Amino acid sequence: MKERGTLMEKIKMTTPLVEMDRDEMAAIMWKETKEKLVLPFVDLVEEYYDLNIRNRDQTDDQVTVESALAAKKYGVAVKCATITPNLERIQEYGLKKMWKSPNATIRSALDGTVFRAPILIKGIEPYIKSWEKPITLARHAYGDLYRATEMKIDGPGKCELVFTDTDGNERRELIHEFKAPGVAQGLHNLDASIESFARCCMSYALDVKQDLIFSAKDTISKIYDRNFREIFKRIFMEEYMEQFKHNGLRYEYCLIDDAVSRVIKNSGGYVWACQNYDGDVMSDMLATAYGSAAMMTSVLVSPDGIYEYEAAHGTVRRHYYQYLEGAVASTNPLAIIMAWSGGLKKRGELDHNKELEAFGKCLEETAVRTVEDGIMTADLERVTTIPDPKVVTGLQFIEVVRRRLAQAYR
Ligand code: NAP
Ligand code: MG
Repeated sequence: MKERGTLMEKIKMTTPLVEMDRDEMAAIMWKETKEKLVLPFVDLVEEYYDLNIRNRDQTDDQVTVESALAAKKYGVAVKCATITPNLERIQEYGLKKMWKSPNATIRSALDGTVFRAPILIKGIEPYIKSWEKPITLARHAYGDLYRATEMKIDGPGKCELVFTDTDGNERRELIHEFKAPGVAQGLHNLDASIESFARCCMSYALDVKQDLIFSAKDTISKIYDRNFREIFKRIFMEEYMEQFKHNGLRYEYCLIDDAVSRVIKNSGGYVWACQNYDGDVMSDMLATAYGSAAMMTSVLVSPDGIYEYEAAHGTVRRHYYQYLEGAVASTNPLAIIMAWSGGLKKRGELDHNKELEAFGKCLEETAVRTVEDGIMTADLERVTTIPDPKVVTGLQFIEVVRRRLAQAYR
């Protein structure tokens, strides 16, 4: 960055970055990150959407839909955590109705897959000692258990799966001849959704230059899980094999139990694609193994290359209520900083804006180095091996990063 007298010349941008703002403690960290770590250095060109729960309510959730359309138009968005309304929140904020989760709205607009990866920091050691490189979990976000139909069986009788085609022809499969009470469940998925999941995972693996494994249980689920496996194989052979070869990368299918035992033994450094339920369970396992909810980055990637960066944690409500009462909350802003740095880096990369890309990288490295130098929030103090860490609040942490960044960009 050049200097003009004492005034720094800020980094220029061409294409707008889409900002999806708001809610609770995350919003406070978000605003501070933008004002102290982005605006002094970057001449920010953006389209701003306020996804505050009250604004979503006032606009009948149109603001969420518009923000998703803007992400589709410009290709890169950064999103703060937002409240997903439930009954309690309807009362708390006097909402008109129980609006859908903004993440679900955005995900269905972009037809994306969510990739979650840990933030690796020396001195914040994962519980699994062999992990040297990050493991990214890619979770399919449609169907299976999350769209299941269930039935309680009260007594003896026959339970069947019935498919009726549009001409009225029926196909039946016996689930079970019940002799006594029990339960039954029907799951489904769609080839189109599995195909776009496969493409997202393969594009992402190429982007981060890591091997990809996809795990399922096709030895037991010979039609359902087999279908996933076959689709992954076909998409790989037809569309990605050459590029993987060219980059020295591998794609491999792996039984879920095998994948789980491997993950505990190896050194990491790959993308692990999971079906919806496995992804739900395994992403919690990975986040916990890396120490804190704030140590996970999350990016939604669409098959046509739209990126939405966010923190994997929620709005951190408990800290927000403490904050409103005047207490100091030690909320970790790392994942929020990484959402901004990830978005700026990607915007720079897509626009061939080297300065912007380098700034995103520098922001990320500066935040990581700050923790490595022993300055951290309370959640990390509990898991660090760094001697005598200096515990700060989230706002103090951002201020330290700002000073260090200003040194780098003097
Ligand atoms: P949360 O925000 O993830 O926080 C749960 C707990 O995890 C916190 O109380 C805190 O533990 C710890 N934690 C999370 N992030 C932290 C951080 N940055 N620094 C330090 N500790 C952190 O979940 P929640 O409070 O149960 O949910 C609040 C709201 O978030 C809900 O309304 C939900 O709808 C929304 N949500 C949004 C998203 C999203 O937009 N992506 C995702 C999930 C949830 P301690 O209290 O022990 O310190
Ligand atoms: Mg979960």
